[in-house]
Amino acid sequence: MSNYGPDEFDSVPTQRSGDLAAVPDAFQRLWTPHRMVYIENGQDPSEHACPFCRAPEFDDETSFIVARGDHAYVLLNLYPYNSGHLLVCPYRHIATYDQASPEEVAEIGSMTQTAMRVLTEVSRCDGFNLGMNQGRIAGAGISEHLHQHIVPRWALDSNFFPIIAKTKAVPRLLGDVRREVAEAWPS
Ligand SMILES: [Zn+2]
Repeated sequence: MSNYGPDEFDSVPTQRSGDLAAVPDAFQRLWTPHRMVYIENGQDPSEHACPFCRAPEFDDETSFIVARGDHAYVLLNLYPYNSGHLLVCPYRHIATYDQASPEEVAEIGSMTQTAMRVLTEVSRCDGFNLGMNQGRIAGAGISEHLHQHIVPRWALDSNFFPIIAKTKAVPRLLGDVRREVAEAWPS
């Protein structure tokens, strides 16, 4: 789809998506509210360390974090398959689930349960896809740091965009979704 240049959004504060934690995929996004919270300037992985290690160093709004636990934290995926696509990550830089400690496994599990309840409450979704891609061969965008995907699903959430244009319609802005999920997250 079209690439917006900074000139067209002079009045909009922008942020490099490459500075944020996320799992890139093959899809482009069509941000349907027609207002941008950030402008894509490309990601240069060599420029900085692991994004999932860096994300907790910044405030929740900057990193799109919705909840922080003792061993793991939850953030919005910058490349969502659907509005409310969350990732649960251990703080520790480990690649695969079998490397997680019992405490990390327990908290990743309990945060996944909480995320499902919160997303059901705030977004009235009909179902979920949960999963971890282990290793680049299995589709992990950032294979070096374990992350569990939580993708809310609605009965009519699929459309023709992914097929014809490798583009997914994401109807809600990340900042709005982050605030809503964070506010509904039990303390
Ligand atoms: Zn890491």
